[in-house]
Order: sequence, then structure tokens, then C-alpha cells
Amino acid sequence: MALCDEGYLCEVCGRDVEDLTQSDLYLRYVLGEVDPETLHVRPERHLACNPSLAQFIVAADFPPVTVEGYFAKSALDPDFVAAEEARVTRGYLRLLELMTVDLPIVEYPLPEFRARWQGVAESEGEGTVTVGTEPPSRSGQVADEASQG
Ligand SMILES: [Zn+2]
Repeated sequence: MALCDEGYLCEVCGRDVEDLTQSDLYLRYVLGEVDPETLHVRPERHLACNPSLAQFIVAADFPPVTVEGYFAKSALDPDFVAAEEARVTRGYLRLLELMTVDLPIVEYPLPEFRARWQGVAESEGEGTVTVGTEPPSRSGQVADEASQG
């Protein structure tokens, strides 16, 4: 058996992680949880072999994962579960997308998480970028009859 021909082996079950859509490591990478600098030294895992994260993937292509105990979705705060499902499912869909496009690995993460790593290199010590801070009624001035007196 030629070891060099194999992909990355899952640290949990020991079997080959065949592609991105099975990879817990890359899911966390696209979600901005893994520093690109450390990606190649991190252990690989199947999504299904990390059920505490995989349980939040809600997608037709993905067999639902159930967790028992403290980290079961049913034991967690519903708002947290909803937010995690939205976040993690987006990451999973990103992995599916990446199978169909040819991107450099640094562009794998979702845009808002990609900025996290790129921002560190480009704007050290600079002011933070603020988005969406405009007041809701900047053009529609409210004429209050009682204001003049
Ligand atoms: Zn595995």
C-alpha cells in the first residue's frame, strides 16, 4: 500500500477524508476558525467524526448527525442552535461550492471570515472598518411641529 498516494486520514476513524465536503478541518477553515498558517499542520477529521459541529449542518446533501448529552442540539439554547445552524450550514454549502470552482486556498473562507486573516496583514494598527453605522433616517428628516416654540 502506497502511503504517499493517500489523502489526509481522519484522526478519529483513521480512514481517508476523500474530499472537502467531508472535511471538518476545511469546514472550520471556511468559517474562519482555522488560521491559514496552521492549516497544513492541523489534524484532519470527517465531518461526521466531529458530531458536535456536524449536527449544525442542515442540508439536503448531508446526512443529519445527532449528538447525545451535553452538546446535543436539544440541550442547547434554541437561539444559539439557530445561529449555529445558519453559520455552519453556510460553511458546508461553501465546501460544496468549492468543489465546483477553482480558487486558491486563501480564498476558501467565506468573505467575512477571509477579511479576518487578510486584515491582519494589511492594516496593522489602523482604525477599524465600520459597516452599517449610518442612522436609519439620514435623508428623511422628521418635521416636528412642536420643535419650534
Ligand atoms: Zn473519520
